[in-house]
Amino acid sequence: MDTALDKPLELGEPETLHGISGSPGIVVGKVVVFSPLAEGFIRYRLEEGAASKEEQRFLAAVAQAEQSLISLRQQFEGDLADTVAIVDSHIRMVRDRMIVEQSLNLIRQKQINAEWALDLSLRLIKKKFDHIADDYIRSRFADVEYVAQLVAEQLTGQGRSFPAGFAEPVIVVGEDFSPEDTIRMHTDKVLGFLTEKGGATSHTAIVARSLGLPAVVGVADITQLCRTGDTVILDGYNGRVCLHPTMDQQQLHLEYDRQHRAFSDEMSWYIHLASETVDGLRMRLSANIEIPDELESVIYYGANGIGLFRSEFGYFQRRQLPSEEDLFTVYRDMVAALSPQPVTIRTLDVGGDKLAAHLPNSGLHFARERNPALGLRSIRFSLREQDLFITQLRALLRASGHGRLRILLPLISSLNELRQTRAVIDKVMEQLTQEGIPFNAETEIGIMIEVPSAVVMADTLAAEVDFFSIGTNDLIQYALAIDRGNEYVASMYDPLHPAVLRMISQTIEAGHRQGIEVSLCGEMAGDVFTAPVLLGLGLDELSMRPSAIPHVKRLLRHSTFGRLTALAKQLLGCGDSSETKALLKQYLADNYPDQFADNERA
Ligand code: PEP
Ligand code: MG
Repeated sequence: MDTALDKPLELGEPETLHGISGSPGIVVGKVVVFSPLAEGFIRYRLEEGAASKEEQRFLAAVAQAEQSLISLRQQFEGDLADTVAIVDSHIRMVRDRMIVEQSLNLIRQKQINAEWALDLSLRLIKKKFDHIADDYIRSRFADVEYVAQLVAEQLTGQGRSFPAGFAEPVIVVGEDFSPEDTIRMHTDKVLGFLTEKGGATSHTAIVARSLGLPAVVGVADITQLCRTGDTVILDGYNGRVCLHPTMDQQQLHLEYDRQHRAFSDEMSWYIHLASETVDGLRMRLSANIEIPDELESVIYYGANGIGLFRSEFGYFQRRQLPSEEDLFTVYRDMVAALSPQPVTIRTLDVGGDKLAAHLPNSGLHFARERNPALGLRSIRFSLREQDLFITQLRALLRASGHGRLRILLPLISSLNELRQTRAVIDKVMEQLTQEGIPFNAETEIGIMIEVPSAVVMADTLAAEVDFFSIGTNDLIQYALAIDRGNEYVASMYDPLHPAVLRMISQTIEAGHRQGIEVSLCGEMAGDVFTAPVLLGLGLDELSMRPSAIPHVKRLLRHSTFGRLTALAKQLLGCGDSSETKALLKQYLADNYPDQFADNERA
């Protein structure tokens, strides 16, 4: 392990990486990168008569592993109930027959050393878990693996310890960390952690949240992209990592963190209140999520359903493409869990910065594109790879009978493209009907409005869909010709550009003229600085990361419909974003002086 933090930094260009918010909070610091534990161990056949000694060696390792867990548990007794419960489950597991008896049998029957027997046991257990249909139980194999790893560490004398030898507080980076690793990080020497694997409600993330340790998980290739000693910003609120940040970026993030923490206590009061203005105008505040694990926070933060499920994340980090059955199970469970609230599932949106090449290798078309944002992405990819698309549509439609599922099509740029897509959906509906498979034939089909041509043609498109969802993340990039992932032009990426506000307003009017609902699911929906204008523009729904919901709800509940619409009208009349920002800043300072009087973000 390289812990030399004092070597000179080679600064690269600032770069933002996206992962999943594991635990809220922002920290800035140098990283220490851990490589995975050495997997190699020695295998050998035992000499005659050596089996019972080897069994004793194995049992001693089990006892030591158990003891290390018991001491860890004692540190947290009477405190941190979630954490203690997880350690307890591992204490029970370390003595489990699956691991212990099976390994002892293997030592005796095959006359092999304890490490080898443990490895074989683990493989046999994995086979059993692989056949379990329930995703949650299947995923618990990670705990069995962790416990076996602890025993292996005792046998081999190898192990990792936190926070060995860190001279200054650091951000630790690794492929993955166990819940117990996370507990060991709970010292003043670890600021937070980043992993390549993991989900928002993995045990590691649960522990990180209960310890208040900021974390971003699921950041692709993070162990390759940063080196020990690099400075990063870990943004656990938004699941983002900024490599090689400038001093300005560091200060802005720390200020944001300060504001966030100051309001978090007050915000929890809003979770159970209705999303409505003082004069009773209601607006749905729903959640954007990437993986089903986030369902827990959707419910916790009181979302009115899911406004955007980015289904593409279910295709990444897998060996094979998900089957219809895999997808159906995920969609059905999600829809059923939130019924009668709507669950809006967007069909595969790969391409652009979500590399199609990250899909499991399966003979799909992966173009090496000069300009991926303008290339074969989103619905264009699905229409080209129709087998893949049909598999997803079948899963979606089959799940449609289990609650209120809405299908959302990304990056529609013309009526022709919409009609081609609807033809595929009709074909899938016919297939299902012929096969006698039940589905809801009235399933709402909506489109993302994220290309300027779709805004201009919104009235025509509205006549052929059930709802619009405005994707401002892309709409801003295409309208202003600013690559949303390019740091060089990031300062020109401007949600409050009057052109953007007018496009949003135009889309809402076109949708409402046709009697369809208009939602907005870009990042600006969850930003308390930009949300007031969206609240005043007459949208039916704002969809955002779950933790932002109480913040936006607070704005809504302290406003009147009249004040919000007047603000929106004023902003639509501006000629430049310096004017829109000044007006908005004034509005926020007048109406929320406690939160915005010193706000410099404008
Ligand atoms: C958008 O473009 O605003 C959007 C919500 O989709 P994504 O960020 O996944 O492109
Ligand atoms: Mg988009």
